[in-house]
Amino acid sequence: MKHTSLLELQHEIAAGNTSCRSVVERYLQNIDQNKHLNAFLEVHSNEALERASEIDAKYQSGEQGKLAGLVIGLKDNISHKGHRVSASSKILEGFEAVFNATVVDRLLAEDAIVIGRLNCDEFAMGASNENSAYGNVLNAADETRVPGGSSGGSAVAVQAEMCMAALGSDTGGSIRQPASFTGTFGMKPTYGRVSRWGLLAYASSFDQIGPITNSIDDMALILEVMAGKDERDATVSENPVPNYINALEVSGKKRIAYIRDCVESEGLNPEVRDHMNKAIEALRSEGHEVEAVDFPYLDYMVPCYYVLTTAEASSNLARYSGLLYGHRSEDANDLESTFKLSRTEGFGEEVKRRIMAGTFVLSSDYYDAYYTKAQRVRRIIQRDTAKILDSFDFILLPTTPDSAFKIGERSDDPIAMYLADIFTVQAPLAGIPAISIPTGETGNGMPFGLQLMSNNFEEAGLLGIAKELYNLMKK
Ligand code: GLN
Repeated sequence: MKHTSLLELQHEIAAGNTSCRSVVERYLQNIDQNKHLNAFLEVHSNEALERASEIDAKYQSGEQGKLAGLVIGLKDNISHKGHRVSASSKILEGFEAVFNATVVDRLLAEDAIVIGRLNCDEFAMGASNENSAYGNVLNAADETRVPGGSSGGSAVAVQAEMCMAALGSDTGGSIRQPASFTGTFGMKPTYGRVSRWGLLAYASSFDQIGPITNSIDDMALILEVMAGKDERDATVSENPVPNYINALEVSGKKRIAYIRDCVESEGLNPEVRDHMNKAIEALRSEGHEVEAVDFPYLDYMVPCYYVLTTAEASSNLARYSGLLYGHRSEDANDLESTFKLSRTEGFGEEVKRRIMAGTFVLSSDYYDAYYTKAQRVRRIIQRDTAKILDSFDFILLPTTPDSAFKIGERSDDPIAMYLADIFTVQAPLAGIPAISIPTGETGNGMPFGLQLMSNNFEEAGLLGIAKELYNLMKK
């Protein structure tokens, strides 16, 4: 079942060894066998089978698109016309998308097959998928452990081969952290590389959609199809989209920085530290220059991230009022009780915590002390990250301080949960792209990833070095 890449599968389909329809059938079987992992909120069985037959017919006439044969799942915060979308929240129970997200339009136009809707933390707020109104997702490598979050369903769907790839969204690590916990590849593109049109917003100056896959090649292909200018999202760059798949061969020696404090940080599992050191040596032995740099903001990044994202969330989530769409309380009898009761009943605990924190940091008495200050800290993080990337091509760091933790272990301790993001928030704070590659395993057999970051819009080079490092660590 495991094809090393979509391109390989496409060769087999073209050679008549298999068909889109039988690929979809096998994924549907896997979904059925892995129901208990709770990765899918909804499976579009018939629709996917019908589309597969249509695309098989296109193969006959050679008219198939770039992603023909790609069976993909969508995180439940990405709009897919005529299908439900709820951000795993009760407040949007039963709500159907009335248009396609731009990324969905683009995938469909290249003949991808959408197989279903994937569980996630409510409104993408979380690092364990325990905040979903529709239950936990289980890590397929050890079902007593979390898959990471918030794109936990996306990661497990790819991990357990219930689809070939999935889309997630990443605000502070929600693609890369679950990728690390499940042994899959995950990418957060540069802010502005991929359209957010049709993505249910969490923190708009951070959110990006990206792929979770079983190979770098698939990631390159999917990014290429999704990326680029979109009239519907003014934050998308007009930068031309390169041919990422052709850029995968790294040429020449690179300069790679690693942040001293990240490797020395106390909370880092020593096995992850050893693995980082091995990666540094492996890159050096290939002739790359790898050097430690100072970036003394590790302690500030998570607080800064949470001040800014809760502020943005409190504003973005104001639209779920019970008036226009989504859940409306049956006990409401006037305007105020409609707001209050609908939101009280509809939102989960973590979402409420963040709306309140965000409202607090934006309140007139505290605005300067928190929001303005966090904006300044973000500027400094951006500036000093850019400085590193002036003299280096890439930054290497672990994706997560450890492999997946047990279900329930951190659910009563929001601060411990927030610290799971320590290595993933730098990229979205700075706006730069980052990839997590599955290279490590802790003694208990659980996977973890290494992360590479580059300058804005340098995804081509980033994919290339990620592939090289992955191959080096596999040896
Ligand atoms: N764990 C982080 C949070 O809860 C990241 C979430 C995300 O990237 N959507 O905010």
